[in-house]
Amino acid sequence: MTSPASSPTGDPYLLTPGPLTTSPTVKQAMLHDYGSRDQTFININANILDRLVVMVDGEDSHVSVPLQGSGTFVVEAMIGNFIPAGGRALILVNGAYGHRIAKICDYYRRDYVIQESAEDIPVDTEALDQTLDSDSTITHVVMVYCETTSGILNPIERISEVVSRHGRGLLIDAMSAFGALPLSSRNIEFDAVVASSNKCLEGAPGMGFCIARRSAIENTKGNSPSLSLDLYDQWQAMNNNKQWRFTPPTHVLLAFNQAMNEFDEEGGVVGRGGRYRKNCDYLVSGMRELGFKTLLPDELQAPVIITFHMPANAEFDFDAFYEGLKEQGYVIYPGKLTVADSFRMGCIGRLDQTHMQGALDAVKSILNQFGITRVQSV
Ligand SMILES: *Cc1c(COP(=O)(O)O)cnc(C)c1O
Repeated sequence: MTSPASSPTGDPYLLTPGPLTTSPTVKQAMLHDYGSRDQTFININANILDRLVVMVDGEDSHVSVPLQGSGTFVVEAMIGNFIPAGGRALILVNGAYGHRIAKICDYYRRDYVIQESAEDIPVDTEALDQTLDSDSTITHVVMVYCETTSGILNPIERISEVVSRHGRGLLIDAMSAFGALPLSSRNIEFDAVVASSNKCLEGAPGMGFCIARRSAIENTKGNSPSLSLDLYDQWQAMNNNKQWRFTPPTHVLLAFNQAMNEFDEEGGVVGRGGRYRKNCDYLVSGMRELGFKTLLPDELQAPVIITFHMPANAEFDFDAFYEGLKEQGYVIYPGKLTVADSFRMGCIGRLDQTHMQGALDAVKSILNQFGITRVQSV
């Protein structure tokens, strides 16, 4: 066998929902030790926060607050801060991340109802409209922009239109979409949106952030049941002295700053999302040529991660498929669906069509080893 494909730093390519393959320059940016009160570090931190607000066209109206931890930490922080103890959430669920939000509400004893659709069906905005019509006690609607469980795109503009028409607050988990799919406060009215450093912005994992409407976060004082996840307190502290309350992930911020430079160089959301869309289309058409079938029709597919049905061929062994791909330098992701047996391949991170082609070649060679000439899909 030829030597496995590898990134410039010798690592396998990550065709996953994150952490992702990052550029050498993003990794290099971490080779510095800054104290949390170092002025250079403070300036970099402030610059990151300003740019996040600009990304949603919120310079005059929105603020951003960073938080240590993986993406779930900041989702939890958003729930705990923006839904007050007497509030009631309507959670729009069509996958595992929506269910996780409900679980957070259980932990925090926040009252909620769920509107659920299957993992391959987008959020039903007519049902949402009816629920908000009939239940005036719902204070907030919580949605997942791209539900990474399947890779499905939820209709964020229509959801936002319905929620604001009813005068409720919209909270958005945009973890796997932010940076690759449009999200402007000019056409999407939201109280808060959360995402993390290590998905479509291609930084290192270790921090999340919340971008909030100033008037919404101003009302969250005292809501958080958690000290370390108190976004209001973090915001206030940072307003006062530009510093994080507790040890900042300095290296992650340095990497994130470089990642945002590279995001700008690529042309922002249009450039980044465009590359991912090309990756997605290339991978999907190549896999379809081999007989694989996608869970989602193209119009519902976000250019982030693609779910494929598990082949029905008796010779197909997923564990061997996964290991074989990994040996050739491509790490894929198992499925997490309840509606179908599946696996996933991501198309985000520092990857382009040559990597998609490399992954397709690797898939072909493993199918060959299995003796499969064409995949049978259900
Ligand atoms: C990745 C992701 C999260 C957060 O996951 P972590 O593993 O905690 O980083 C939350 N929501 C969605 C939609 C995601 O894709």
